[in-house]
Amino acid sequence: MVKSKGKENFAPTVPHKITCECGETFTLLTIIMNCPKCEMTYAVTPCGSSDKNNIKVAGIKYA
Ligand SMILES: [Zn+2]
Repeated sequence: MVKSKGKENFAPTVPHKITCECGETFTLLTIIMNCPKCEMTYAVTPCGSSDKNNIKVAGIKYA
């Protein structure tokens, strides 16, 4: 899905479940990931990836 630059392939410490604003629920398996339905990109800071509060919306098709 992404041209690999390295860091977007890191797995977060905890696989967070995300409920997207489009209603889709998916699991964040890498620190940056698109919603499978609407392609909104979610990202979590690598150093704080165990904390759900560090998940941010990066924008549509950011990744
Ligand atoms: Zn979505």
